[in-house]
This record gives sequence, C-alpha cells and structure tokens, in this order.
Amino acid sequence: MASIQGVYAREILDSRGWPTLECTVWLDTGVSVSTSVPSGTSVGKYEAKELRDNDQSRMLGKGVLAAANLINTTISPQLVGRDPLDQHGIDQLLLELDGTKDKQKLGANTTLAVSQAVCRAGAAVQNQALYHYIQSRYQLTDYFSIPTCIYTVVNGGDQGADNLDIQEFEIIPASHIDYLNSLNMATELFYTLKNVLEIKGAIHAVGLVGGYTPNLYSNSDVFEILVETIKASKYTFAQDLFFGIDTEASALFEGGKYRLKDKAHGYTAGELALYYKKLRSLYHVFYIEDPFREEDIDDWQSLVKEMGDTTRVVADTLTATNPERLAQVIDRQLCNSVLVKPNQVGTISETIAFVQLAKQHNIQTIVSHRSGETCDDFIADLAVGVGVDYVKFGPPNRGERVAKYNRLSQIYTELQYNANNNTVEQQ
Ligand code: PEP
Ligand code: MG
Repeated sequence: MASIQGVYAREILDSRGWPTLECTVWLDTGVSVSTSVPSGTSVGKYEAKELRDNDQSRMLGKGVLAAANLINTTISPQLVGRDPLDQHGIDQLLLELDGTKDKQKLGANTTLAVSQAVCRAGAAVQNQALYHYIQSRYQLTDYFSIPTCIYTVVNGGDQGADNLDIQEFEIIPASHIDYLNSLNMATELFYTLKNVLEIKGAIHAVGLVGGYTPNLYSNSDVFEILVETIKASKYTFAQDLFFGIDTEASALFEGGKYRLKDKAHGYTAGELALYYKKLRSLYHVFYIEDPFREEDIDDWQSLVKEMGDTTRVVADTLTATNPERLAQVIDRQLCNSVLVKPNQVGTISETIAFVQLAKQHNIQTIVSHRSGETCDDFIADLAVGVGVDYVKFGPPNRGERVAKYNRLSQIYTELQYNANNNTVEQQ
C-alpha cells in the first residue's frame, strides 16, 4: 500500500490574477502530484466559504497564505502515513477538522486543494488515468463518453463590461455532434462572431472567462448577432446548435424587480418567465441557468412545470453542489439540471454524493469551471469519470479554458485507441 509522505500548499494566481491554492501530495513511492483550485466571482449565498487572508497589506486582502499554512502545518501532519485511496476517510477528516456547515473555519479552497490532490494521488497509485480512476471508484457511469460542451461566447453581468445584464450567452452543439466536430464548430463560430462584431463596430474586449464583451445595449441585440453569425457560417441554427444563457438572476434583482436593459422598468418574476418563453420560441434558448434568485422558490417551480419538458432549467447558486440543498430542491421540483462545481462545496466526496443524488433523480448534470480558473484540467476528468451530460468550460480560447478542452481531446483519443484495438483514426 502506498502512503502519503507529505502535503504542501502554496499561493499561486488564478486567471483573474487573484491568489488561489496549489497543493502537492508526495507519496512514499517517490511519486508526487499537484493540483490547484478555482474561485468564483458570482458567488452564491449557499456556497461554502473561501478562506482569504483579508490582510490589506498584500494582494489587496485576497491572499491565501493562511490557507496554505493550514495545509502545511495542521492538515499535512494528519495525512502522513494515510492511504491516498481512502478519499472518503480523508475528506471526512477534513470535514471534522473544519467542523462548520459552510467550511468557514478551514475554507473550501483549503479543503478542496487537499481533497483534489488526494484524488489525483489515488489515480497515480492505481496507475490509472484520472477519469478512469474516478469511474472505477464511484461507478456513477458504466461507459465513457465526452459530454456535450456548452461554449460561452459572450459575457455580460459580473463577467462582462457593465452593459449587458445576462452573464453568459452560450452556444450548445446538438448532442449527436461528435466532440471534435463540436470544438471545430465552436472555434469557427467564435471567430465568425468576432468578424460580425467588428463589422458592426461592436467589438470591445473579452470578459472574465474569455467570451466577448461587445458594445451592445440589450440582450436581444446579442441573440440577433448570434443568429447573424450562424447565418454567415456553414451551420444550421436549431439543427446543429442551440443557445443557452446563465442569467445569474440574483445579481439583477434590485428594488423588487429584475433589472434587464431590454425593459425600462424591470421585470417581475412572472414577466421574466414570459421573457424566457419568448427566448425559447424566438431563439431556441433551451438552457436557462439561474433564471431567478434563490429566494423565488415558487417561480423556479412554475418554470419547471411550464418549460421543463423542452428546456433545461439549471440550478447553479440555488444548489451550490451541496447534496443537502439538492435534496430540498428535488423535493420541491425546482429544476431539472444542476451545475457541478467542486469548489462550491469543498471536497471530492461531497461532489460525488451530489452527482449521485442528481443522477438518482434524473436531474441532468453539468460540470462547470469558475471564472477564476487555473490551467488545472481536473474537472475534465471528473466530467468523463462520473458521466455528466454537459460541461461548461467557457469559450474555446484562453489558456485556462482550453486546458480543459485539450484534456477532453486527449481523453477522446484514448477512448478511441482503446475501442479500436489500439489504433487511432487520423483527425
Ligand atoms: C457561473 O455562474 O456559472 C460561473 C462560472 O461564474 P463564477 O465562477 O464567477 O461564479
Ligand atoms: Mg452560473
């Protein structure tokens, strides 16, 4: 049995330039593995808490030296000699050391850095690719496939430039389209969109996750430009691809209404639901994430009743990758799909429990990046290893996003190699 010889964490930077944690686990076999954790910008109230230094004298208060120190001085000594295959036992220890409901003592960044590193160490000990290891440990899927990708191409809200309210406008290839063709389609459309925006004089810059943040004034303008982009391409709208949005509605709620620039006086929840129906029929928006605030339970429920047959009503901040929250949401039938973001909950075991519960209740699952990412590709393996329906890794550009797509490409080749008697078709 291999055992853990030491755990060491350090402060590194995420894609926004804010500090985050990288963690290394050394094994007595001489092997070491490292991993790093992401961080969100639109952080919901049910997410586990991050531990930050709040020391204004460095990193504008966002440092994670205390979190690294906790790993190096408190957690590491307790893990020395432990079996890295005992993910459950080690995660349990982390939960006990923290002792709070929302990880406010150790921080979910601290616990996830350790938990994720232990998972990578387990795969190394078993000599398995990470997705293979996750599949064989948890048996949440009995076959491997690359999930359908949700490509964010335009950013508004907290990820944008202050002019568009909807946080993400996404293109979603039809599920029958093979992964490499979907990546090709996303890349071609991303650059066709750039041309269309340039012609309109609307090009601005890219947002936090790499989607364009164009000079447009209403959400409808974005859909019209996306439709124009598809017309200028070789693809057929509503056949090859569809649209999705992440409204991140909590961020839009002000003075009792949802403020969207498309309407002067804001939307009541009922009006917003009608707006979603309009987007569904006009623009084939079949994926709607965080359509309402976490508080608007009745509105979530009626949206699922009214649109759930044809539309993915997706919970992100509502469920926060927390199995207890998900159980309540399932009871009340508030969504039909959930985002899976390990750092919202803080351990791999809890993330797995969340996916398992979702699958048991036919809730579709989407493994998602955060806006503050690193080049770690852990979530690509996680997505394939637990067999989720979709992944949301951002647009097909910027290093920290393409790290995940490139890992999916590697897995794709490996799956083909194994299925075709150790041969790979030329791309
Ligand atoms: C999201 O809301 O789905 C998202 C990826 O944003 P963030 O990581 O900023 O919470
Ligand atoms: Mg979201």
